Amino acid sequence: MIGAVDIGGTKIAVGIVDNNGKVLSRLQSPTDPQRYSDGIELIAHMLRQAAREAGAELTGIGIGSTGPVDPIKGEFGDVDFLPGWRGKNPVNDLQTIFNLRVALENDGDAAALAEAGWGAGRNRSRLIYVTVGTGIGGGIVIDGKLYRGVDGAHPEVGHHVVDPSGPMCSCGFRGCWESLAAGPAMVLWLESYAPADYPHRQGITAQRICELALDGDRVALAAVEHEALYLGIGLANLINLFTPDAIVLSGSVMKSAPLFLGRIRDLIRKGCRFVPAEKTELTLASLGDDTNLIGAARVWHYRFGS
Ligand SMILES: [Zn+2]
Repeated sequence: MIGAVDIGGTKIAVGIVDNNGKVLSRLQSPTDPQRYSDGIELIAHMLRQAAREAGAELTGIGIGSTGPVDPIKGEFGDVDFLPGWRGKNPVNDLQTIFNLRVALENDGDAAALAEAGWGAGRNRSRLIYVTVGTGIGGGIVIDGKLYRGVDGAHPEVGHHVVDPSGPMCSCGFRGCWESLAAGPAMVLWLESYAPADYPHRQGITAQRICELALDGDRVALAAVEHEALYLGIGLANLINLFTPDAIVLSGSVMKSAPLFLGRIRDLIRKGCRFVPAEKTELTLASLGDDTNLIGAARVWHYRFGS
């Protein structure tokens, strides 16, 4: 039984995951962005409690974390959301507390490993996992191996540029994929496009836009069209660059995937003519809301399993 730890900018989820990727218990708590030592104590406490609830004995701990992290050293890098956690080493610290082997990966890579091993990516040799929510992240798995860049770096699929005249992003570029196609981008676009008296403007979210589009709301439908265009351009780029067997789509925006997939497939058909794009399957993640937690457990199996 693996203790899984999913560290995000706003919350930490902890769970016990069995050897088939099934979550037996889970707990969640807000992340304190400043105080790392309290965070590690909290994680240890939650792991013990989750193990008690599952009636399980921990045999290892896997961590998926918002990046950047150094998976080999087990260290946090320059994590924007968690300034107090920079340079800290949760792998060493949890190893000391529990006397168990601990493995860490970026959360996009962790989720990619989970979908490749236990989810929609099973039996796919070349797999790209893409999550579209408040940002766009992902991971690349080739023949069961996680693709790593130089020094173990995690490639940022969400920050390839699709329109240099687009909105400014914290990555340093204008118009990267995330700035144009993540959930907040949908909201920004609608706010700039909708007439001043648009009745749903106040507090609108990407999810609400999708609901309104399903009801036939014209403004929301235009936002969905715009979203599908930019999602499609980014996915077409990934297909042209990698020609993977499958792209597994996840994240809150992808809960409304049927609204976008038709247009995305049209665009890929038109724009990826020099590669066998029709052979790349666009498929939805199958592990649901627990993908990141299951991914954290998969990280342990990937590192230490047979
Ligand atoms: Zn960016």
